[in-house]
Amino acid sequence: MGKIKSKYSDNESNENESDAGLKHQIAILKEQLEELRKVEENLRESEENFRDIFETVEEGIAYGTLRGKVLSINKNLEKIIGIPGEKIVGRNIMRVSKDLLSLENFNIVIPLLHDVVRGNPIRPFEVRFREKLLEVSVSINNRTRRLTGTIRDVTESRKIQNELKISETRLRRAELASKSGNWELHLKTGTMIGSEGAVMLYGVKGSPIDISEVQKVPLPDCRPMMDKALDDLIKHGKPYDIEFKIKKADTGEIIDIHSIAEYDRENEILFGSIQDITERKRAERVIMRNNRDLAQLLQITMELLETVERKEVLKRILEGAIRLIELDTGVIYHLNDDTLRLEVTVPPIPDNYPEEFRKADVNRHPHIKKAIISNTPVIVYNIYDEELTPEEKLIADKKDLHSMIYIPLTANKQVIGVLILGTVSRAYEFSDREIRLSRTISNIASITIENSLLFDNLIVAKNKAEESDRLKTAFLHNISHEIRTPLNAIIGFSGFLDQPDLLEEERKEYIDIIFQSNNQLLTIINDILNISHIETGQAKLKIAPVDINRMLNNLHRQFLPEAERKDLSFRIGKHRSDCKAIVETDESKLIQIMSNLISNALKFTASGYVEFGYECRGDHVEFYVEDSGIGIAAEEQERVFDRFYQIDKTESRNYGGTGLGLPISKGFTELLGGRIWLKSEINRGSSFYFTIPCSRFKVEAAAETESTPAAKPETSALKSILVAEDEESNFALIATMLKHKNYHITRARNGQEAVDIFRKNTGTDLILMDIKMPLMDGFEAATEILQIKPNVPIVAQSAYVHQSDKALAIEIGFVDYLAKPFDKQQLISVVEKYIK
Ligand code: ADP
Repeated sequence: MGKIKSKYSDNESNENESDAGLKHQIAILKEQLEELRKVEENLRESEENFRDIFETVEEGIAYGTLRGKVLSINKNLEKIIGIPGEKIVGRNIMRVSKDLLSLENFNIVIPLLHDVVRGNPIRPFEVRFREKLLEVSVSINNRTRRLTGTIRDVTESRKIQNELKISETRLRRAELASKSGNWELHLKTGTMIGSEGAVMLYGVKGSPIDISEVQKVPLPDCRPMMDKALDDLIKHGKPYDIEFKIKKADTGEIIDIHSIAEYDRENEILFGSIQDITERKRAERVIMRNNRDLAQLLQITMELLETVERKEVLKRILEGAIRLIELDTGVIYHLNDDTLRLEVTVPPIPDNYPEEFRKADVNRHPHIKKAIISNTPVIVYNIYDEELTPEEKLIADKKDLHSMIYIPLTANKQVIGVLILGTVSRAYEFSDREIRLSRTISNIASITIENSLLFDNLIVAKNKAEESDRLKTAFLHNISHEIRTPLNAIIGFSGFLDQPDLLEEERKEYIDIIFQSNNQLLTIINDILNISHIETGQAKLKIAPVDINRMLNNLHRQFLPEAERKDLSFRIGKHRSDCKAIVETDESKLIQIMSNLISNALKFTASGYVEFGYECRGDHVEFYVEDSGIGIAAEEQERVFDRFYQIDKTESRNYGGTGLGLPISKGFTELLGGRIWLKSEINRGSSFYFTIPCSRFKVEAAAETESTPAAKPETSALKSILVAEDEESNFALIATMLKHKNYHITRARNGQEAVDIFRKNTGTDLILMDIKMPLMDGFEAATEILQIKPNVPIVAQSAYVHQSDKALAIEIGFVDYLAKPFDKQQLISVVEKYIK
């Protein structure tokens, strides 16, 4: 305008030239108008441009006054918010916001708008509108005093961003869970980027990673291998797949890493991933170790199959255990009651070791005892920290022991020993694996001990069986001789008896021989019956008070003739002569034991003496039979109690016998609750001792007349005995045996007759009743007789030896039982026992 004004003032100064001036002015005006039109044109153009931009930009734009009145909005904004412009334009932005936004969002927006209308610049903000997330930024033009709001729909991009974030989190978590990570190395720039997992595994500071730090983490031994792998990858494109160990940069922890990498040659980037495989490696090592353990255990077991000899087997077990657990020393003790017996040691026991090493009392080894009682391994880290018994200290010092493990050995759930493993001059912590292994080994050892014990028993049993077989053969050989000799005599001399020209003298002599032979036969048969009773457990006791002084006297009287024949001094030695000694025991068995011992003493003594007697020793009586005979060598002394055993001096063995006397004596002694043993010296004599318990040893004032048999009157003169016996010969035998005894003997041929006779003579003093008889057997007859007179003594005499018959007889009321065959002495002692 200024320019136009000046041109007018030029016109006024030159009126003459008015036309020209007017024209000129018009021209100027035109020019000015043209200029104005151009300006207007430009303006319109720029407004159009602005409108174009306003309408075409992606963002929604709102334009308004500084006070918030909306002057215009573009189409895009309408599209974004889905509301036509006329509903907004001309209204205040506050009101519009209030109408359109939720309360929550309005509350977010309102302070910002307040700031805006006050002319304060604000940061872009986000606001939820319907389903959309809008990003709003407001700019203020102070010159034009206008506001421009730019609104972008960021719903989609924010969704994508979120998804990206989620997947990144997932990846991170997966990396952390699998203890893995990823890295990139840009060779051009030398930058290394690592995921969180990678950074953590290397223990380095966050991304980008300081390469020099990463290069330091691999353990030195792994480096050459890693360098080569990297070289192969970069130069030859060979895939990189390696395992190595690193020392983490932050904690210094050593871990195993598995790493794979590839190379993007075009961009010169190495992409790698790493994983912590420490656990896997550890598991691998455990598996490998277990495999090795198993292989070794198998080898030990295989070795065991090669031998059955216990010591050898145990030695191998022990060596195996020490090898497996890499220890220095070990022992295996076998436990028997409270005694520990050393089975094996590794290294082997030196000769100068004290005896305590070989045999030990478990009570003096508390650690062993604890393992045995608890039946669990006992571990001692340092033996010198423990309280040691002198025995333990001795062993620990001698061997310089330190750490020990005591493992019980069991068989059939019983502790049978202990395996001890230890270290020498170093302390050692036993791991779970080693305890487990030791237990396995102890189980193998237990089985071995058990097996070898069985094996030993088998060997013993086999030897015994062979010995017994040998003895039986010898016995049969012997017995046939023992039986044939008297049988020959009986048959031979019986044949002579009816020869008419036989002198009375000769007849007497023959009868004597036959009689002796009979007795001999009877003894043999009795011995065999007795031993079979003992062995089959049928021998039973009949306990009654026994006057042992009287018994000794009877034995003396019985054996005196034989002693006199050999010109031996035969005497009763120690005994209680001042009184009557009564012991509750089984008399017949006691007599049998004494008879066997006395007859042996007489048999094996050619000159000198045989003495027997007893001594009272507290709760038992100790009997003895002593002789000055041939004696028994020390090595034979145990064996003379074996069945059929006879000391073999083949050429000079001219003593009779069956080898059963001592085993019978032993069997009976034990049955009576005592024991038997001997002392002997070759050519100087033997003393046999045996005990019987006497809880009730009674001493009564000796009845003068009863103490010696010689002084004893024949009290039976008027006594009557009823013998029930169907067999003629048996009756004749009994009658003959009792011939000189002055008894009145009546015979019944069957049970019925016995009852009838007794009924007529109830004064009968004793009945000897056969069991097996026609018409009525002995059991029935006795029952009836006892009904007639309950206290009459009835003695069963029978060839039945079955225990049940004896039991029945006693139950019925028989006072005693004489098993056929019996000898004269046995019969007389029974008869005298009941006829007083
Ligand atoms: P037997 O006497 O029938 O042979 P034993 O069993 O009674 O059988 O004795 C077994 C062996 O013990 C005898 O054969 C004998 O060798 C030996 N013996 C027993 N007693 C004596 C003794 N008093 N003196 C010497 N040896 C004896």
